[in-house]
Amino acid sequence: MICVPIIADNLEDALKDIAEASEVADIVELRIDYIKDLNLKRLLKGCIKPVIVTNRPVREGGKFTGSEEDRISLLKLAVELQVDYIDVEHDSIQKVNNTGKTKRIVSYHNFDKTPDDLTGIFQRLKQSGADIIKIVPYANGITDNVKIYQLLQQVDMPTISFCMGEYGIISRILYKKFGSYLTFASLQSGKESAPGQVSIHELLNTYHVRRQDKHTSIYGLIGNPVSHSISPAIHNTLFKEMGFHNIYVPFKVDTIGNFIREFRGLDIKGYSVTIPHKESVMGHLDGIDQIAKKIGAVNTIVNRDGRLIGFNTDCEAAVRVLEDINNVSGMAAKAGSLQGKKVTLFGAGGVARAIAFGLKEREAQITIFNRNYERAQSLACEVDCFYRKFSDLPALEADIVVNATSVGMFPSVHETPIDKNYLKPNMIVFDTVYNPPETRLLRDAKSLGCRTVGGLSMFVHQAAAQYKLWTGQMPSLELIEKIAYKKLYHGE
Ligand code: NAP
Repeated sequence: MICVPIIADNLEDALKDIAEASEVADIVELRIDYIKDLNLKRLLKGCIKPVIVTNRPVREGGKFTGSEEDRISLLKLAVELQVDYIDVEHDSIQKVNNTGKTKRIVSYHNFDKTPDDLTGIFQRLKQSGADIIKIVPYANGITDNVKIYQLLQQVDMPTISFCMGEYGIISRILYKKFGSYLTFASLQSGKESAPGQVSIHELLNTYHVRRQDKHTSIYGLIGNPVSHSISPAIHNTLFKEMGFHNIYVPFKVDTIGNFIREFRGLDIKGYSVTIPHKESVMGHLDGIDQIAKKIGAVNTIVNRDGRLIGFNTDCEAAVRVLEDINNVSGMAAKAGSLQGKKVTLFGAGGVARAIAFGLKEREAQITIFNRNYERAQSLACEVDCFYRKFSDLPALEADIVVNATSVGMFPSVHETPIDKNYLKPNMIVFDTVYNPPETRLLRDAKSLGCRTVGGLSMFVHQAAAQYKLWTGQMPSLELIEKIAYKKLYHGE
């Protein structure tokens, strides 16, 4: 069940929010401690969904500043009015007995940390005789969620549990898989009653939580930061459209070794990996595909019967993009072949490495240009290709120009790694930057008549390749592109 807390500070707004929440939520929580002109009877008249009445004191993170006696008498009034649930703090539960039809939720909050002994806390709360137990601590790291998962595997009565804070978001999303009685979601972003609360719109439309149950398989993105990633929107839509009972969530990870070790117990079926863990994750896997090993970076992990195997789909994606545009241009001596093509590659970072190794496999003639010359030299040695200084640019002779630097990326959209004068109309120009969709480099190249391709194509291909590694099925590239376009450029 999804519960939306109503946190308006006046009766009129609360009634409006209740009406709106009732259209999407399973339960509404009336946070009567927020409301200055409280009239509980009127509020309840506006409720068509089951209701939790909560009157949280300041000591437990709430807004009620009156006496403890007044606070408890409002909860007793809620019981008299036969609300579905009241939420009572663990230190006041004995003050509200005999609740008749109303179920008591006994709640424990910890705004500093997630204690190790959640089971001990659960046992103490259970002795209170409440109907439902609620344990909500604060996560200081992603592995705190594992404590919630382990607790919920053991409990023998209805229990609400998840972590607050950004690191705790996954426990809010995965509430059915974890076994929590319900989760809380804000009516809109900006209307959160606790840190880390996800909006109900996101729970329903990005994570499709109505489809989730105990048997849902978990996939996710390892990175830091991850909050703006468009991958959850892409993979969750693909899972839904293609009938897979899977969910994809963002894991904000600080220490990769701890994360991989602790989450093995949850049997996560696959991961995407992004900055800053693409290299460091390799030491914690059970196997690494040949090409990922060469590149020295993993962006995809597949769980094969408990063994975590690393892959790199950036490489294949970039090559596919170039092969496709090469074919369209009609320049290839042989369809689909990059063999013998002169490629100028700007950059020697992670993406450039993937592209360099991929192109080498296709027997292209690569020349690497990088701001840091030693880095260019070192990558060229590994790949066995040419490298040049930026100052050698006037001699640029290339069939294909690739930008694998971050130059031109938002917000520095006016920048370009190569002056327009160096480009020639017969060149193919590929910019891996995908924000903005058309970089200055691509605009310059287009104006000269070059064939151009932007970073979104590579992004789409790498996401599709990941999905195929996990599920064995190739998704629609058009669908991925449509979702990515909407998310990236229209913020939908
Ligand atoms: P990275 O490992 O940090 O490498 C960054 C590269 O950009 C290095 O070669 C760096 O040169 C160069 N660079 C940065 N600022 C520069 C400047 N002002 N002038 C000249 N060179 C500069 O990053 P990455 O993971 O390879 O990502 C590179 C870019 O690829 C990203 O910014 C992103 O736009 C794009 N990308 C695209 C996709 C996709 O699917 N399309 C996926 C991931 C990334 P030095 O070695 O001299 O520092």
